[in-house]
Amino acid sequence: MLSADDALERLREGNRRFVESGPTLERFGSHRERGQLAAGQHPFAIILGCSDSRVPVELIFDQGFGDLFVIRIAGNIVAPSQVGSIEFAAERFGTRLVVVLGHSRCGAICATLEELRRPSQSQSRNLRSIVDRVRPSVEGLLATELRHDEQLLIENAVLANVRASARHLRHGSEVLEQLIHSDGLRVVGAEYSLETGQVDFFDGV
Ligand SMILES: [Zn+2]
Repeated sequence: MLSADDALERLREGNRRFVESGPTLERFGSHRERGQLAAGQHPFAIILGCSDSRVPVELIFDQGFGDLFVIRIAGNIVAPSQVGSIEFAAERFGTRLVVVLGHSRCGAICATLEELRRPSQSQSRNLRSIVDRVRPSVEGLLATELRHDEQLLIENAVLANVRASARHLRHGSEVLEQLIHSDGLRVVGAEYSLETGQVDFFDGV
């Protein structure tokens, strides 16, 4: 299994290829490759990303079948089922890199800021459960000068939310904490730019 550093380098290289020339289709697996993978998987990185249709994780890292263990949920939030999925992959497959991947102009972040400014009664309980997970990391920003600059506010909120999710994974699970402490597991935070296609690894690197 790749070390966390090597896995990170592989993601950086893949994103570089994607930005320069788009995804290389050979990476998407021949019939033979798919058949071989049926026997078992060894994903080299675990990615917790947003469900946004503009952030297809395998494509932006130019990876194929069997490469990435991906969890996608609006706002790349961390709730117990996300932690459980990551624990599962890290323990079962020995994967040593976890990436929390946010992105520019994230709808879940915008919805949370909207809700904080103008609380609505009509929001469904289920949707509220997502907003409630984003809220603690972004509400402090509304008390700063950033509140006068919508674009800057959203940019900062996206980063704060990624940092909060990464922190939660590093400290909110005994299993992951143990793997970080003694088995070289790393949790890093990154942001994908819808505008440029580039992924910036900015937290825990
Ligand atoms: Zn999003």
